[in-house]
Amino acid sequence: MAPSTDVTLPQHHKAVFPDLCIVCHGEPNGHARLVINTSRGWLGYFVPILWFFQWKRVDVPVCSSCKFSFYAQRWGRNVLMVALACIAIGFWWNDFRGLSRGERKLVLLGVGLAFLAPWIAIEVFWPRHFHLTASKHEVAYEFASPAYASAFAVANGLRGLPDHA
Ligand SMILES: [Zn+2]
Repeated sequence: MAPSTDVTLPQHHKAVFPDLCIVCHGEPNGHARLVINTSRGWLGYFVPILWFFQWKRVDVPVCSSCKFSFYAQRWGRNVLMVALACIAIGFWWNDFRGLSRGERKLVLLGVGLAFLAPWIAIEVFWPRHFHLTASKHEVAYEFASPAYASAFAVANGLRGLPDHA
């Protein structure tokens, strides 16, 4: 249980992955495709048409026996987050009835945050095999395995991992 090891590369850089399955580090015989939108930021919210552009596709090497667990973890976590929030709100819904509209909004916000906190802790301390986060100019490639992250950094022309990793 450790935070993920991140390798940050410029957004236009075409990432090269080591020839290893991202989950078991065995020989990969397939790919898992991840798609992220890189047009995050205020402009993306005001100009929704941008959402049709600026998608970045990343093909991650995965072997066929790990493919399912890779996708299951990815989607499972997202579903879990929404489910936790719904359960929390449903659980206390009746208690909220006596409150005014404004108070209810505040309480819902609090409940949402209280339930997101453990989820964020899970994401940080029990990282996904692989995760991507796009910022304005860069993409962070987040690996659960420091060894894989290090091989990835070398494959992309970096000397190795940054010192803080
Ligand atoms: Zn595998």
